[in-house]
Amino acid sequence: MKMQKPIVHIRGLRKSFGDHVVLHGIDFDVQPSQVVVIIGPSGSGKSTFLRCCNGLEQPDSGRVEICGHTLSDGGQMLADQALNHLREQVGMVFQSFNLFPHLSVIDNITVGPRKVRGVSGPQAEAEAMVLLDKVGLVQKAHAMPASLSGGQKQRVAIARALAMQPQVMLFDEPTSALDPELVGEVLQVMKLLASEGMTMMVVTHEMDFAREVADVVVVMDGGALIEAGPPDIIFTNPKQARTRDFLRAIL
Ligand code: ADP
Ligand code: MG
Repeated sequence: MKMQKPIVHIRGLRKSFGDHVVLHGIDFDVQPSQVVVIIGPSGSGKSTFLRCCNGLEQPDSGRVEICGHTLSDGGQMLADQALNHLREQVGMVFQSFNLFPHLSVIDNITVGPRKVRGVSGPQAEAEAMVLLDKVGLVQKAHAMPASLSGGQKQRVAIARALAMQPQVMLFDEPTSALDPELVGEVLQVMKLLASEGMTMMVVTHEMDFAREVADVVVVMDGGALIEAGPPDIIFTNPKQARTRDFLRAIL
């Protein structure tokens, strides 16, 4: 296999809150078009790790390179303007959908491209309709967020992130706030993105999704990356006792 340059390159990433060390020196690479699923107990540092990957948290030390830029190095972050530019290339979807409640679905999607990418209104709307088609919500273009189900809101949130034309998508428990019957429609959209070659880092407890879609499953525990490998290895023959304990508890 031809070695590509990683699109995410992390070395020695450390982060504390006060004297609580949350990330203990993480080394990790993500290759273009890889789908990485991050699992591990609550409080193990999964969200903090993702947030360090798009500059929502400032690492204390170590190096984070993403999309060919050094986001942080030795506790120094990119300056604000460059950081904002880089964030455009790294889409993030959260557990809580965070749509703008006073904007219609299509306005939620077009506001970023118009204000940040400088796309014209009609062009942004045309792009938004393509994305709404992709997430199966063309008919909701002019609906307000409050009228949508959780699964629909999350699909709009994904479309909104995609509208910035990111090179990497980060998902932090995107289905954890949803009623069980709505989880599938969101996972379906994420599977579609994966099949189109989007580079994705996904924190989730949806192990069937991980088995089916992940190229690499990463197990975090206590602020460290304790094990990483293809899903068939991690789920059937993990090396670490802590991985076995975690999987036994959730499966
Ligand atoms: P996970 O996503 O795996 O549940 P988090 O990254 O959210 O873990 O949290 C890891 C640890 O860091 C937890 O002990 C949490 O309480 C702590 N933590 C996270 N964010 C903050 C913060 N902003 N201030 C203080 N502690 C935090
Ligand atoms: Mg979390």
